[in-house]
Amino acid sequence: MPIDPLPPLRAVIADHGLSARKSLGQNFLLDLNLTARIARSAGDLTQCDVLEIGPGPGGLTRGLLAEGARHVLAIEKDARCLPALAEIAAAYPGRLTVIEGDALEVNPLAHLTPPIRIAANLPYNVGTELLVRWLTPPEWPPFWQSLTLMFQREVAERIVATPGSKAYGRLALLAQWRCDARIVMSLPPQAFTPPPKVSSAVVHLSALPAPRFAADAKTLERLVAKAFNQRRKMLRAALKGLTPDIEDKLVAAGIAPTDRAETVDLERFCALARLIEK
Ligand code: SAM
Repeated sequence: MPIDPLPPLRAVIADHGLSARKSLGQNFLLDLNLTARIARSAGDLTQCDVLEIGPGPGGLTRGLLAEGARHVLAIEKDARCLPALAEIAAAYPGRLTVIEGDALEVNPLAHLTPPIRIAANLPYNVGTELLVRWLTPPEWPPFWQSLTLMFQREVAERIVATPGSKAYGRLALLAQWRCDARIVMSLPPQAFTPPPKVSSAVVHLSALPAPRFAADAKTLERLVAKAFNQRRKMLRAALKGLTPDIEDKLVAAGIAPTDRAETVDLERFCALARLIEK
């Protein structure tokens, strides 16, 4: 069953000459049943505005609208995609707004009404930067309720990683401090046109009302960045210079000074951040 009365995406791409550009991270999803599934994994959209980054020819956009999103605000850098997106806007009157621009520069807030969810098949070159920005706003809770984002599988694994694993690091701690994060879907390269070199996964993050453990956000971010900057070093060496009595503080936080960052869980990093702040 088609999800909407619009033409298939292959026809849209051919009609509008949307040959994929590597420089823009363009790997398109052409299966609308798949994009509708991704939209469903974002939760109930009927009462929400959805911010989508990089709609391209509109596969996920159509999935979000078909799944009942109240309103979609889509930010796309490639002007070639705008006519195709205008056709979708016409099929869903008043429910799709498209802004041509760079998602790293456009402030979407003026165009969104809460509650807001974010869903995107992110361009690989700006994906992590956008995620870190969404995870580190000046105040918590953030402007969004949830993030449903496609990443390269390796990045998705870094977001949900637990202590002791190779993937565990800054991204896992930032994400899990103030969100529930899980991988909800895995996709092989062939799901995309053109296929990328690696597999992908969709991560769903829902914002917690408050951080899991008390800590000052800036102190925690600085601490975690320094701890994992030299992840193979013992923490007493990796954190040297952060505060004069780092060894005492490590011990007070329940961390052996000889431990490495990758073995320390979120709770103890937060305890250490509180001691550093004192
Ligand atoms: N959402 C479409 C899909 O799932 O088929 C396209 C996804 S494709 C991986 C990434 C999209 O992001 C492309 O349409 C690309 O033009 C767009 N893009 C790349 N960099 C961007 C940026 N800085 N701001 C906004 N869009 C960007």
